[in-house]
Amino acid sequence: MGDADFAWLADHVRDVADFPQPGVAFKDITPLLGHADALRAAIDGLAAAAGDGGVDHVVGVEARGFILGAAVAYRLGCGFVPVRKLGKLPWSTEQETYALEYGTDVLEMHVDALLPGSSVLIVDDVIATGGTAAATARLVEKLGATVTGFAFLIELTFLAGREEIAAYPITSLVAY
Ligand code: AMP
Repeated sequence: MGDADFAWLADHVRDVADFPQPGVAFKDITPLLGHADALRAAIDGLAAAAGDGGVDHVVGVEARGFILGAAVAYRLGCGFVPVRKLGKLPWSTEQETYALEYGTDVLEMHVDALLPGSSVLIVDDVIATGGTAAATARLVEKLGATVTGFAFLIELTFLAGREEIAAYPITSLVAY
């Protein structure tokens, strides 16, 4: 949970109060994305979560999970699979519903995106309550693939999201 080697990355994360709604302290990673050394360190740190064995695919959730996840996949020399909100993917999909603070939302993945038995690293910018991460793992497993682990740039420890995915190895570079 957090890693001293990556603590300096927090200097490139901007806290934005009350975005997108009152009471939320939003972690804006655009300064980090725009900083060459911070971006490279973050991608290398996330990629290390794949371990020595590597993975067959990186799975990322829109939209910031696409930016980081695609770069991690390139770094690992594996493919990238997008998970999107309901209605965005053009082909046949599997779906998973997950709880929001108010109501529910649906995530989708193409039915043919992963082969049964393949190994997957799930990458996202922030783990907050863990609902998105847990739903993404269920999607991966619906296709018969294996979640090797999760890699997050930022973990909001006070929201205890890792309890939702406690069965899996979890890497987070910066903890708050
Ligand atoms: P959760 O499902 O609660 O773990 O929320 C995770 C998703 O919401 C991630 O895809 C994040 O990008 C986004 N998210 C949640 N909380 C924050 C926050 N405080 N700052 C930035 N992004 C957030």
